[in-house]
Amino acid sequence: MELAGVGAAPGIAVGPVWRYASSAAGRGRPSLDIRVAAELAAAELMALAGRVRASGRADDAAILEAQSLMALDPLLLDAIEARAKSIPSPGGRPMATGDRADALASIVEAVAGSTADTLAALPDETLAARAADVRDVGARIARIVTGRVVALPDQPAIAVADDLPPSVAAEIPDGQLLGVALERGSATSHAAILARGLGIPAVVGVRGLLAASASNIEATTVALDGDAGRVIFAPSSDELAALESERRDREAAGAKARSLRGQPGRTADGHAIELLANIGRVEDADRALEAGAEGVGLFRTEFLFVGRSGAPTEDEQATAYRKVFAAFGERPVVVRLLDVGGDKPLPYLRLAAESNPFLGIRGVRLAGEHRPILLTQLRAIARAGAGLASVPRVMAPMVATLEDVDRFRSMVDEAFADLDRSGIERAAHFELGIMIEVPSAAMMAAELARRVDFFSIGSNDLTQYVLAMDRTHPELAAAADALHPAVLRAIRMTIDGARAGGIEVAVCGELAGDRIGSLVLAGLGIAELSMDAGRLDAVRFELQQRSFAELEQLAAAALAAGSAQEVRALVRPAR
Ligand code: PEP
Ligand code: MG
Repeated sequence: MELAGVGAAPGIAVGPVWRYASSAAGRGRPSLDIRVAAELAAAELMALAGRVRASGRADDAAILEAQSLMALDPLLLDAIEARAKSIPSPGGRPMATGDRADALASIVEAVAGSTADTLAALPDETLAARAADVRDVGARIARIVTGRVVALPDQPAIAVADDLPPSVAAEIPDGQLLGVALERGSATSHAAILARGLGIPAVVGVRGLLAASASNIEATTVALDGDAGRVIFAPSSDELAALESERRDREAAGAKARSLRGQPGRTADGHAIELLANIGRVEDADRALEAGAEGVGLFRTEFLFVGRSGAPTEDEQATAYRKVFAAFGERPVVVRLLDVGGDKPLPYLRLAAESNPFLGIRGVRLAGEHRPILLTQLRAIARAGAGLASVPRVMAPMVATLEDVDRFRSMVDEAFADLDRSGIERAAHFELGIMIEVPSAAMMAAELARRVDFFSIGSNDLTQYVLAMDRTHPELAAAADALHPAVLRAIRMTIDGARAGGIEVAVCGELAGDRIGSLVLAGLGIAELSMDAGRLDAVRFELQQRSFAELEQLAAAALAAGSAQEVRALVRPAR
């Protein structure tokens, strides 16, 4: 029996089923003091974080450390204790220990659940993922309260679950988890990130998975294809043979693609397409360099600002930017101005609630009321750029009007003047760029191109604004495809405007790392593609299989198509 989902971590795995449900657990000794249970949960999570960190998975460890702090959150514990006072005592007699533990556990899960619901309602993927973490912390405390324990797999197996919290996955000994199939989750959920970190396949958002698992309860083997998003219960010997040959083909293609590392991006006939990496943290620089990035096309600096109680200081930021500049030497690094607000709130910025956050105060629009935080950042970048071999490239997100650019430029001038007044060394100048991610900017590309040094197309936001489809909306995810001809026509307009102004255009949204997207963009005339470092090998390889004339023909056909599906059908499947 085969089910379809979203491929969230690549690879093929076949193995025994391990069915995980947070409620299915054996019973041990209850612990009725909520503070003691919370402290135990926090200690368990910290110990798991230490183990995971020691195995080199810093990202997963950070999630567990954050969860350990959540377990001790006084607001959470106060709310639980307040509600626990209302646990009834039948006939004035104390409740049986087991019943009281169950009642307390329900309260813990309800309080954690309502905190999680509040987070999940925010239209931001990072915060939505945190909602799952809060729920998971609640489930762990509840297990301790009732004395339940999760039965871990006793042999290498594939997890089949509604959702698999990272904290449970971390308890599974190394090598025992072969793959993950989830009814819920998205490609950006923590379970997906975890699977990618472990190098095991994951298929998420598989509707009907739990029902299928329950009706195939005697199916002891399951196969996963994390590239194609397939889950097969009790695969036949033909299916297994086909999967094995697919796995070998992919391995060979992957090895061929990896062998091109170190070569610059180009088409078969030598037309150069620069391949750069998107990074979010200083530590990502090494992974990008290892993958052969020719520079950084997008440094999402907001990662320096989130998950803390106040903004990083000018010194802290200057140190971080300097490290990235130093790692890339003469290769270009594009630093993006803080892109928060609206859908990505920063608690300490105290932004007003908005009914349409994606259309509100976000990105460069913070230059109004929140100019100081952007000025500090610009000073830090200018300081980090002092004495560099290359000129720092700085770009503003969410530019919609010419006035946005004027405001951006005036902030840069002010930051430079501030440093000069204090006699602090700085970069002599910046190359100033803007992201083209709002339809008005694509339409005004020629005018904008006269005011800046480069464009970088943010295809993620451009798609949501061109198609009027919220990028975080689960039901619109499949339709919000950046290869829609309407988006490609907006990109065409942008390229034409940039050419008229004599400036370069890069693309740094997900489309740049998409197999078909990269080919279409190169054919449209984009000479710089910036993507997750994990996509560089595949894109470098695909470009080298085709002449530039072929890509131009592909782009012309894509522009004339009627839908994203038609565009995708223009390119043969890999191999
Ligand atoms: C984009 O919108 O395409 C982009 C690169 O920016 P972000 O995904 O960070 O909004
Ligand atoms: Mg964007």
